Amino acid sequence: MKIVFIGYRGTGKTTVGRIVARRLSLPFLDTDVLVEEMIGMSIPTIFATAGEAAFRSLEREVIAGLADFNGVVATGGGVVLDPANVQALRRGGTVVLLEAGPGEILARIKDSDRPALTGLQQAEEIRSLLKVRRPFYRAAADICVLTAGRSPEAIADEVTARLAGRHGNIVLPAGFSLPPGEAERLATLDPATGLYGIAGHPALHSRSPLLYNALFARYGMDASYTFFDHPDFGAILDAARTLGVRGLSVTIPHKEAALAAADEVEEHAKTIGAANTLVFCGDHIRASNTDWIGVRRPLEGISAGRAVVLGAGGAAAGAVYALLDLGCEVTVLARDAGKAKALAARFGCGSGALRDFGRLRPEVVVHATPVGMAGDPRSLLAPEDLDPSMTVFDLVYTPKETPLLRTAAARGCRTIPGTEMFVYQACEQFLHMTGIRVDAATVREVLGE
Ligand code: NAP
Repeated sequence: MKIVFIGYRGTGKTTVGRIVARRLSLPFLDTDVLVEEMIGMSIPTIFATAGEAAFRSLEREVIAGLADFNGVVATGGGVVLDPANVQALRRGGTVVLLEAGPGEILARIKDSDRPALTGLQQAEEIRSLLKVRRPFYRAAADICVLTAGRSPEAIADEVTARLAGRHGNIVLPAGFSLPPGEAERLATLDPATGLYGIAGHPALHSRSPLLYNALFARYGMDASYTFFDHPDFGAILDAARTLGVRGLSVTIPHKEAALAAADEVEEHAKTIGAANTLVFCGDHIRASNTDWIGVRRPLEGISAGRAVVLGAGGAAAGAVYALLDLGCEVTVLARDAGKAKALAARFGCGSGALRDFGRLRPEVVVHATPVGMAGDPRSLLAPEDLDPSMTVFDLVYTPKETPLLRTAAARGCRTIPGTEMFVYQACEQFLHMTGIRVDAATVREVLGE
């Protein structure tokens, strides 16, 4: 058993960690102490003589050595910024985040000899670093505990109670669809196993459970990913809270409802107007959007020229955002020119009807409608619309080679299948949900792409 305490300096990781270790008769280690012992210098001296980068490198080395440790570990406040650290700490471990507000932290650490990390006044440094680090802490945590105004003993009580996990089996309320055998599988999970899932309707076709469960096994995480298929997002949220879900991937038709349900929304999701990722930390929900990354990454390196997005729904909004971020001049075309105009107006770009495609001659085309999906032989573009100089990215990912991509390839265009969007949005989403960075090659391998 490995229990890892993370959180800002002064949140009680060492004090509470020692109490929990004593109660569970486990050894206790503090990564700051291990770094000092390894190099024979105090942390202020390491910072003064070698700088923060050297300290982070020593810390990374110490943490890599703890992947298979059996006991309780208290970590330095900045460890979670490096996904390699989170990967090592999560292997076979339960990660406990201790949280406190900036005022409480300042009161606890104002006389500490630890070096400043910025040129800011101490109170301002705490506020600004907390703002940057919070998403990293919450992504890396299995259990989040608020410490303000509580004694270390009381915090340790909550931690030990929460380590035991859920009460009773996982049972989804009536109205939820599960694939055959999934209810039985959920009923066999250990109460302490962390739960994640795909929220949507329909959602049973999703490849996310296959991907996530394989990645959890690969990274030694005691976690499982299932289906939350229900037409009412409120019902999904209630079930998720009751079951202590740690993260949800969100798909149609719930991406806007997910955004509205969050306590905190990342900037990209706010601008796109949709969230495909929810991370739960205690009662707090953070929403983010990784779909746009799924469009952006495969297009990185293109010359920023004219781009057309076909469609005006949720995926199209992410595509517009990604293309603008790449410096493209974007036009949205849809069968309903009014909807295209409304989407384009949000981002200050051009719009029109599908028939306008011919006059635009774009360098990049992103197709974001369901046309051509699963046996649908149609394509919104004819061979004569396409030119070999174009890059055509079809977001539809079943089948991998859509009618549009087949036509584009025959015309000599560069083609990008929708599976690439799925792969890159998943890499980013896994990072948001777990704090672990997975590369695209690993995701492709798991998906058999
Ligand atoms: P959405 O919000 O429902 O939007 C669909 C858009 O397609 C709307 O603009 C809709 O127009 C248009 N449309 C539907 N049928 C059409 C047709 N026959 N002709 C022309 N336009 C049509 O859906 P979405 O979430 O944006 O998803 C769009 C596509 O992206 C889906 O096929 C999905 O598979 C794909 N996608 C892929 C990934 C990935 O990881 N690769 C991720 C997300 C989505 P109206 O408003 O007029 O109906």
